[in-house]
Amino acid sequence: MLERFLRYVRIDTQADEDSDTYPSTAKQLDLSRVLASELEELGLADVELTEHGYVFATLPGREGAPVIGLIAHVDTTPETPGGGVAPIVHEDYRGGSIVLPGEPSQVIDPAEETALGARVGHDIVTSDGTTLLGADDKAGVAEIMTAVAYLVGTPEPRATVRIAFTVDEEVGRGTDYFDLEAFGAEAAYTLDGSGIGELEIETFSARQVRVTFRGRGAHPGSAKGKLVNAVKLAAEFVASLPQDSLSPETTEDREGFIHPSRINGGVEEASVVLIVRDHDDALLEQHTELVRRLATAIEEREPRARVGVEVHETYRNMRAAIDQHPRVVAAAEEAIRRAGIEPVRSLIRGGTDGSRLSEMGLPTPNIFTGGQNYHSLREWASVQDMAAAAATVVELVRVWAE
Ligand SMILES: [Zn+2]
Repeated sequence: MLERFLRYVRIDTQADEDSDTYPSTAKQLDLSRVLASELEELGLADVELTEHGYVFATLPGREGAPVIGLIAHVDTTPETPGGGVAPIVHEDYRGGSIVLPGEPSQVIDPAEETALGARVGHDIVTSDGTTLLGADDKAGVAEIMTAVAYLVGTPEPRATVRIAFTVDEEVGRGTDYFDLEAFGAEAAYTLDGSGIGELEIETFSARQVRVTFRGRGAHPGSAKGKLVNAVKLAAEFVASLPQDSLSPETTEDREGFIHPSRINGGVEEASVVLIVRDHDDALLEQHTELVRRLATAIEEREPRARVGVEVHETYRNMRAAIDQHPRVVAAAEEAIRRAGIEPVRSLIRGGTDGSRLSEMGLPTPNIFTGGQNYHSLREWASVQDMAAAAATVVELVRVWAE
């Protein structure tokens, strides 16, 4: 598994949210192609690299067995440098801080990273500090590949497994062309979580809101009484957003937020893009309403301005969909236990491919991978925890056969 993981993270698969193509970057296909050919070599059936860059394959189970899906994404986040990853394996970690040699200001400190402090004796994989590691989600990819490679050679009865490696999860488009009918699974699991034993059955519900301010341009030398500056309107709006609450930097657990993530513009027109998140749909609606009110207030103060608010649904909390299929969660918990780990139900302050898939009718909880500190130069993964995730996948395929 480690050999696979180190190979996959070296392939640059960074997604690009400003791209109009699908997948958003052609380089994601570099890994998709490698995976398709490795699945062929393993002797899996129906191996397919689709025109959109998804890899599908089937591991046939016993006659009449249920069909379950295993899903991971090949792309990495555009937020952090993702090319030229040089992974380092810190064998038999002895405790203390890990200084990343390519950028010594990047230090993984167990005082901050309590999970690392508890991993003395593990083999820890990091980048050299100049890029992300890409355990999100190449840990999940390597774990599924390893579990499948193991299962191919074992005679025990098993469920039929449909494998999917998706693209563009990190830019929220991972399932845009996912054909559920062709996938044909009755339940699925993403391997895209984090700490050992975690089973995530709840995500945020998410919206993107674009607020556009239209001002009125004038030559600044003769602008008195005429100029309405959209830059100032946008700044006023951002300053009016809640600061001490409802912000990513001031919330945790079940608290939602309003997060201005991008601002663009000039004197005539400026726009602010916000992401709005909450686990509770009614609260999500309230937060959206607050954005609308604060935007409209700008227009009330400056009637010559025009303010537009566009709301896009991004994904829904998968909890409601998953609650209708308790055995999907029970099977995962049983598999985690059989791998020797106590399962922990947790919630994601974000979304996964499973949020959309669950909404589309395929219940898809998220299983841990052993990776930590995602989207950071200080991302790390425990090889032993990753092995536990791969073992969980093996057990899961057996549990479903029963
Ligand atoms: Zn991920």
